[in-house]
Amino acid sequence: MAGRFHIRTFGCQMNQHDAEKMANLLCHAGYREAPDAAAADVVLIHTCSVREKAEHKLYSELGALLEAKAAGRVVGVAGCVAQQEGDRLLRRFPRLDFVFGPQNIVHLPAMVAAARERERQLRVDYDDDTQARFELPERHPEYTSPTPGRAFVTVMEGCDLFCAYCVVPRTRGREVSRASGQIVEEVRALAGSGVVEVTLLGQTVNAYGRPRPGRVEGEIPFAELIRRVAEVPGIERVRFTSPHPIFVDEALVRSYAEVPELCPHLHLPVQSGSDRVLADMNRRHTRAEYLELVGRLRAVRPDLTLTTDLIVAFPTESAGDFEQTLELVREAGFADSFSFKYSERPGTPAQRRGMAPLDPGLAQERLERLQGLQREQTLAYARARIGERTLVLIEGASPRHPGQLRGRCPHNRVVNLRSARPLAAGELCPVTIESATPHSLLAVPVADRTAAGRGAPLPLV
Ligand code: SF4
Repeated sequence: MAGRFHIRTFGCQMNQHDAEKMANLLCHAGYREAPDAAAADVVLIHTCSVREKAEHKLYSELGALLEAKAAGRVVGVAGCVAQQEGDRLLRRFPRLDFVFGPQNIVHLPAMVAAARERERQLRVDYDDDTQARFELPERHPEYTSPTPGRAFVTVMEGCDLFCAYCVVPRTRGREVSRASGQIVEEVRALAGSGVVEVTLLGQTVNAYGRPRPGRVEGEIPFAELIRRVAEVPGIERVRFTSPHPIFVDEALVRSYAEVPELCPHLHLPVQSGSDRVLADMNRRHTRAEYLELVGRLRAVRPDLTLTTDLIVAFPTESAGDFEQTLELVREAGFADSFSFKYSERPGTPAQRRGMAPLDPGLAQERLERLQGLQREQTLAYARARIGERTLVLIEGASPRHPGQLRGRCPHNRVVNLRSARPLAAGELCPVTIESATPHSLLAVPVADRTAAGRGAPLPLV
């Protein structure tokens, strides 16, 4: 064994999945996972630069970790902050061994070997925007998936859209897609190892396959990719995240009616309900266009659960603009949302244009009003599902409710259940929903899986 590794990850699902790729690569290089940083020879802090809070947390954790750094241990920083702030990080933390951005994950074993051999700091910046970043080995037998039965599959990376508040095009680079044959092969291998649910992953995942310069050979329309992935024997559920509304085309809408494996949940970021703010954010669609799209999706899939991302107190948001966001939340009937106060991030178009954040007190007040409204809607949505039969993919023991198991229904809601027979993580269990809270549903197992198919159309909340 080459040694032990520990990865501490912050941020989005792309980051969670990148951490899985790093763990698998290190297993192939002869390393094994350590339970914590203290027991590891290689420690990676995997960063996110989307929110200021996460970046501050990184600095304090990294400082403490380096202070207690044992002889022979190497510490690296990965992810978006490493890409953007690499040189500054190395200057600020002289005991830090190496930094590397999201495009360079494939080179991790070589970086670790170099860092362990040399006595100097290393900044790895291969500026790799080719297919090489997708050429990763299959799951190593020693690699333990944190999500048995489920897996993420990267289909594209980067973004060409430059929303005013977002740093992703600078940290993850421009849009690069992966050949469809390679994606389907990965899904086939995952299905062979017991995976029943795949989530196709990309910054603007449904930009995959759109006509554009730089399209790779073997790229196909996104709806067609979903179909091919769904056809892989053993795959029972297909999801994708995160789509951009402007790339939801008619074929993708139709997939919700035509591909039974495509889960009836769509997380479709909208960010604001005001046309003026949407334009200032450079979101490239209007409120009416978004709502029209929601209408078309619900026409083909009445039980679709819709969730979203929202930013409050964008620098140009007026009281009237904010009211329009509240109205949109009601009109679209979001079952849930991730909402944040605008956070000024270095290198974003908004920061470079000198857009000053609004008063923090006002921003907090707006966030609380929005989240209060969402809580009511989420509870109404959850209560409307009581009595429904559904299939739960078991994730393991519930961390909050001793004696219960936790899983997810096709609508991507957390379902807790008590089961008399033992159920393994990754198993699909038919249930009836008995009660609901805003955060989870409580269900009991039922015997007959055939009755637990598509839910009845859900009422709009
Ligand atoms: S679509 Fe906008 S928010 Fe999403 S990654 Fe691209 S620039 Fe960032």
